[in-house]
Amino acid sequence: MENKEAFMRAAIQLSVDKMKEGLGGPFGAVVVQNGVIIARGFNNVLSSNDPTAHAEVDAIRKACAVLGTYQLTDCDLYTSCEPCPMCLGAIYWARPRQVYFANTKQDAATAGFDDQFIYDEIAIPLTQRSIPMQQMLRQEAQVAFQEWQKKMDRREY
Ligand SMILES: [Zn+2]
Repeated sequence: MENKEAFMRAAIQLSVDKMKEGLGGPFGAVVVQNGVIIARGFNNVLSSNDPTAHAEVDAIRKACAVLGTYQLTDCDLYTSCEPCPMCLGAIYWARPRQVYFANTKQDAATAGFDDQFIYDEIAIPLTQRSIPMQQMLRQEAQVAFQEWQKKMDRREY
């Protein structure tokens, strides 16, 4: 019998402790496998000068390093806040069994962490996004995909 509340409290504790230590924003996450916390992540954007160092990404990277895999198929992720679009993407690539979150993204927005603009950007045409995106050299880049498809020892993921 897993104690879901204990796991979430561990994520919440990280969100408070690491923020107080000045490492980053108030976000924590843990990865659980077979009833045991195998990785503890926390936002360390400020201390590592890494804008991608969100709690969920941190926890996923650490859990994958512990397990020696790039998939978390039999793991659950507990995060102190509803994942932002970047972390949501990372979660789908890591494929955990389930995600539990505490604070909602509305709570985060109230605290000054509003990621709604990223969700909005996804639906906007490329040329109208706040960061311009322009396609170029498609033909030349296709070589990599062609080589990948010919690669006999490729690992599908
Ligand atoms: Zn995030």
